Amino acid sequence: MRVLITGAAGFVGSHLSDRFIAEGHSVVGMDNFITGNPRNIAHLIGNPNFRFIRHDVTNYIYVAGKIDAVLHFASPASPIDYLKLPIQTLKVGSLGTHNALGLALAKDARFLLASTSEIYGDPLQHPQSEDYAGNVNTIGPRGVYDEAKRFAESITMAYHRAHGLPTRIVRIFNTYGPRMRLDDGRVVPNFIGQAIRGEPLTVYGDGTQTRSFQYVSDLIEGVYRLLASEFSDPVNIGTQDELSMIAFAELINDITGNKAGIIFKQSDRILGDPQTRRPDTTRAQTILGWRPVVPLREGLERTIEYFREVM
Ligand code: NAD
Ligand code: UDP
Repeated sequence: MRVLITGAAGFVGSHLSDRFIAEGHSVVGMDNFITGNPRNIAHLIGNPNFRFIRHDVTNYIYVAGKIDAVLHFASPASPIDYLKLPIQTLKVGSLGTHNALGLALAKDARFLLASTSEIYGDPLQHPQSEDYAGNVNTIGPRGVYDEAKRFAESITMAYHRAHGLPTRIVRIFNTYGPRMRLDDGRVVPNFIGQAIRGEPLTVYGDGTQTRSFQYVSDLIEGVYRLLASEFSDPVNIGTQDELSMIAFAELINDITGNKAGIIFKQSDRILGDPQTRRPDTTRAQTILGWRPVVPLREGLERTIEYFREVM
């Protein structure tokens, strides 16, 4: 296959590019570096199976030659990033998704959308299954990301229904691993950076809010299987490793041997920050035969090693 991956210079997009190339496919990576980093794909430059196009996908996308699949991963993903880039975030989820769908239709290609657990908002159902419609504040600070992704899902299903385009939607839960940006503001790089520097870990709010963390290779496996499947409804990909932010901070301090403890930053918690988050992954298990395999501690150890190297 020859696949187009938008957001290829980002954390997830770069691992996805690696996977497709390792499977013998050829990848066209596209990115405008708004939150990504050229270093994430530096090792692919010069590989005959990788071609990079610097382009903002909110503008018309042109790619010469055949494309068998379009994987649309371009979008700021960290709350700090999308609070700084609210309009770009809305545009890449709406205009960017429309352009990527249009390209897939023109090329007779499969389309896969990177959606998110954020479409459930601050959920009133726990754990979250794919049939839960969510609890999103359209005008809250996180609304720019949540609504962009909700629109992206809607237009993806519209292309599927109106044009018969083969589409896939993955709802990604908190994913971590090497190549996250140290300063992207997400809890994993924040905590690991602070722990390596011997600083106290900044827990926002009262720290009782939960997240379920998955290592990036497990996500990539789920995405790879979903693209190959014939299933067009959304599929959650994430783990049952649900921890409060206090417990998560203690785990990072334990693994790194950081003795500086934690400090509470009550006011740094963003309005609408979900109180709980854990996926129901029955669908991924039954339809894709997928389940995560990397234990949390092991994945964190690998990630900490990466951050020690880059810091
Ligand atoms: P990231 O910020 O590392 O990567 C996103 C990439 O998209 C960056 O390289 C950025 O430069 C690029 N991009 C953004 N706008 C663009 C535009 N208009 N044109 C071209 N390129 C553009 O984030 P990530 O964590 O790798 O997330 C990748 C995708 O996965 C996103 O769509 C995100 O919403 C989704 N996702 C990620 C997570 C997670 O935990 N990492 C969870 C849910 C969903
Ligand atoms: N968080 C925290 N300290 C930090 C950064 C984040 O306690 O230094 C919390 C944040 O309030 C949220 C959780 O960690 O409840 C996960 O935040 P992240 O930005 O990683 O992504 P989200 O899951 O909210 O999209």
